[in-house]
Amino acid sequence: MASPALLDSSEPDPSVADLIAARPHLAMHAMDGLVLEDVPLNAIADALGTPVWVYGAGTMRRRLADLTAALAGLNVQIHYAVKANDHLAVLRIFAGGGAGADVVSIGELRRALRAGIAASHIVFSGVGKTVAEIRAALEAGVGQLNVESPAELAMISAVAPALGVTAKVALRINPDVDAGTHAKITTGKAENKFGIPYDDAAALYAHAASLPGVEPVGIALHIGSQILSLAPYRAAYARAADLVRTLRAAGQRVTRVDCGGGLGIGYRDTPGLSPAAFAGALRAAFAGLDVQLMIEPGRWLIGPAGVLLASVVLTKGDERFVVLDAAMNDLVRPAMYDAWHAIVPLAAGNAVGPVSKVDIVGPVCESGDTFAKARALPALQSGDRVAILDAGAYGAVMSSTYNARPLAPIALVDGSRWATIRARQEPDELWRGESIPAFLD
Ligand SMILES: *Cc1c(COP(=O)(O)O)cnc(C)c1O
Repeated sequence: MASPALLDSSEPDPSVADLIAARPHLAMHAMDGLVLEDVPLNAIADALGTPVWVYGAGTMRRRLADLTAALAGLNVQIHYAVKANDHLAVLRIFAGGGAGADVVSIGELRRALRAGIAASHIVFSGVGKTVAEIRAALEAGVGQLNVESPAELAMISAVAPALGVTAKVALRINPDVDAGTHAKITTGKAENKFGIPYDDAAALYAHAASLPGVEPVGIALHIGSQILSLAPYRAAYARAADLVRTLRAAGQRVTRVDCGGGLGIGYRDTPGLSPAAFAGALRAAFAGLDVQLMIEPGRWLIGPAGVLLASVVLTKGDERFVVLDAAMNDLVRPAMYDAWHAIVPLAAGNAVGPVSKVDIVGPVCESGDTFAKARALPALQSGDRVAILDAGAYGAVMSSTYNARPLAPIALVDGSRWATIRARQEPDELWRGESIPAFLD
């Protein structure tokens, strides 16, 4: 059965008005057209051209504040998952709201430090950390390494004593629960590459406690992304809480449980996972356990705060195909995950009127370069602009330069102000670092 989040879903498409009404940061003004926070998106497209990404700082702050408020009373730290959107300004905004960072590479670690996030507030996750990455993380003084295998534990224990430090580690457990999400973003099943098998965790924890340079401080888990129901969280957190009790009964010290991210958002006109309901699941599982909780949301914080603006190049096939100047190299989620993204015209006049079903595609030479199939939209013509919504997470970070298409610029809106936070890539930057060896002459 097709899930409503999928590209080829048979669910009826929400109207443009319903899509906008479900997103408090967006409004359609009769004169100005689509407005993000207080900035008409046409003004940014006029200044920077299309395709262009636009992020809303106020929207990010509000979402972090809403999540923080829902978690009130729980002993929980939020570590923003940098991989969802690693722009320095985005990291600065979340740090300003009190979040730390969850990083998965040395590059993300450097970005988080560069944005001003304290090393002690950074968790290093990832299934294949290299010795160089472990060394860099320990030299920087990160607050926690989430360990995914016995081999990684041995690497950390070899590096840390040489640096004269003790690495605080959490063992990432694979709880073997199905997150009920797309197969490519499920991470908590036994067949996924992530984490330590649940049944091996207690023995490995005891082994970690015996190693030089390593201090096991707790356990971690992350079961997948774009999770919309509480059941998988409840199942995974119950297993985590059981493990904490088992470890303590065996005499181990367990002070932290990192509960991962994965909180889903509403890509259509329905709400995402409710922070209050999520907080309830945390409370139910860990009440009375006296642990420092951590969560690592990425998509939930930044996804709705970003849009990708594009212009219609032309229509073809009796208006069945609408070809945009944005493509899968900019936003790959529809091609990679069959993801459904709302698409809304920028002009108020284009948002009303009779709808017909069109395929919204990009110009790249791949049939997968399709943003929407048989989407009910009012008529669009060459030169009209659209916004692809909820593109703040796993958007610009996944862009490539396929088809020698330069990376699109990024603008940041904050209330009624806006600024360019990444310039459009120049075509000759595409071959920087390449050379033609003399023997070809
Ligand atoms: C990707 C990832 C996250 C964030 O996932 P979201 O679905 O964006 O919340 C958190 N923790 C880990 C370990 C991850 O790999």
